[in-house]
Amino acid sequence: MSLSLYKKKRSFSDTPEPEGGRSTLKDKLVFVVQKHDASRLHYDFRLEMEGVLKSWAIPKGPSLDPSVKRLAMMVEDHPFDYRNFEGIIPEGNYGAGTVIVWDEGTYEPLEDASGNKKENEKHLLKQLHAGSLKFVMHGKKLKGEFALVKTSYQGENSWLLIKHNDKYATPADVTEKDKSVISKKTITQVEKTSDKIWKSNREQRTSTGKKQITKTKESGDTRLKTEKKSAKKKTKRHSHIAMK
Ligand code: MN
Repeated sequence: MSLSLYKKKRSFSDTPEPEGGRSTLKDKLVFVVQKHDASRLHYDFRLEMEGVLKSWAIPKGPSLDPSVKRLAMMVEDHPFDYRNFEGIIPEGNYGAGTVIVWDEGTYEPLEDASGNKKENEKHLLKQLHAGSLKFVMHGKKLKGEFALVKTSYQGENSWLLIKHNDKYATPADVTEKDKSVISKKTITQVEKTSDKIWKSNREQRTSTGKKQITKTKESGDTRLKTEKKSAKKKTKRHSHIAMK
């Protein structure tokens, strides 16, 4: 659908990130929050709508404290399969760095929610275009009512993520829970691990377990690429949140 910008920014022969994917749940909309150690650490907040993931980059991460408003910069739509993406985006690629799935679950609109996914999606899209989304999250870390509200604070793509006051509201810092809900690993642990958690039929590990990746392009040619040994040596990182 609207993935042209996503695809334009990436070279899929070089990055393990997914290219597409279709929604798997018939009656629920999903969300994912990824912690991304790129040129600057941020959290990617993604809500399923229209078969893709509407995405915001939140520099400080979500908060469960209703008195805290978190800046959320809207970025390009991501493919549905991105919800499972955890691993390392290699040096020199857009958004190079380590990604973990920090939280995931389902969500629905706060008002007029029904058991009908299409109806819920319709309400949410209307709110998205109006610049004010209100929804209920059912994650492992993020639960209850939230609002995403468009603001002019940092240009046309800036929004604020705000927790509503409900039984899940707390002043405790939820980002202190720093492990992946998939692998139970922290960013640092994923960085150090030799096996990528992310799986793709484009990637094959050598028997030595070295970080050699064989990637087959659509044209049929195969090439061998050796990754840099340390993910810390990040020289060509691209900032992919437009912020001042
Ligand atoms: Mn990101």
